[in-house]
Amino acid sequence: MKSLSRAAVLAAALALIAAPAAAQESPGWSFAIHGGAGVIERDSLTAEQDAAYRAALKRALDAGSAVLAQGGSALDAIQAAIELMEDDPLFNAGRGAVFTAAGRNELDAAVMNGSDRTAGAVAGLTTTRHPIAAARAVMEQSPHVMLIGEGADSFAASVGLEQVDPSFFFTERRWQGLVRALEQQGQPVPERPAGAPSPQAAADLPAPPLNERKFGTVGAVALDSQGRLAAGTSTGGTTAKRWGRVGDVPVIGAGTYASNAEGCAVSATGDGEFYIRASVARDICARIAAGSPALTAAQTEVDDALSLGGSGGVIVMDTDGRPGFAMTTSGMYRGAVSATQPARVAIYGDEELRP
Ligand code: ASP
Repeated sequence: MKSLSRAAVLAAALALIAAPAAAQESPGWSFAIHGGAGVIERDSLTAEQDAAYRAALKRALDAGSAVLAQGGSALDAIQAAIELMEDDPLFNAGRGAVFTAAGRNELDAAVMNGSDRTAGAVAGLTTTRHPIAAARAVMEQSPHVMLIGEGADSFAASVGLEQVDPSFFFTERRWQGLVRALEQQGQPVPERPAGAPSPQAAADLPAPPLNERKFGTVGAVALDSQGRLAAGTSTGGTTAKRWGRVGDVPVIGAGTYASNAEGCAVSATGDGEFYIRASVARDICARIAAGSPALTAAQTEVDDALSLGGSGGVIVMDTDGRPGFAMTTSGMYRGAVSATQPARVAIYGDEELRP
């Protein structure tokens, strides 16, 4: 046997020393989120509001990476991050959701496990605090894929998920957004919901400006250290939607999709009707399966689909853990973190992710 050079021996020794540390780091995990796309421009956010969104995105990334760095599952990371964003009134999901024209919050969510292509979705929830948890329960604890309305809330309660009074989801900012939208459309403004704080009390709460026309849906895509992909999305839908309207988020293949077989996970945000008509999330996966790089697949699909009308964006992850962000809007709240990269976020369309 040829004797090894000193350099080779040193390299072999260093590799041995490094090996256990690398194993503990669960190499390969990767996580990306969005908090909605829309007309988000630098002069529409104050410095404080800009900072508040970046901090909220970082908290959600930290929640996901805490799970993934310990070797946890893509699904657990997605649920942890989305539950935080559902509780954060900055986003149009859970608390802070937009209102229907009838003055209610009706919440939609979906989750998909790419490793076995199981999926769960809920639409029109009014009392379940965390719609993403309800979607996951449908996937894991029922034989169904989608539950709606009262049946979905009652199923969520039956599996022990926290129920709240519908006024829990009320925020003054979203209420004022509804009033303005209905007035512009010449539609009647419904009564302020029972249990909502008085306008005076609510006016004291800090509220981002109403001039930002954006969506605010939240979503996450993840690759865990075992190579499993997953996607999840949660939303209040669109301001002044008709009651009973369901958007793309809980429609598997439209706003949410994950498939290890096709090599992708996708979560969308934007005008849901067009995402449904174009099967956006599934189409992106089909493009990736056919050999397109993830980012190209996402941008081409979004441009194509939204040529039908509307606007929005998507986040995508491939089996190598590469995150991609594509949009037709001037901004999208977004972020990514991985085993090798720190948490980085961005808001405006022309901006790179940064710590
Ligand atoms: N896609 C969502 C819907 O149409 C809205 C959003 O992304 O904010 O329900």
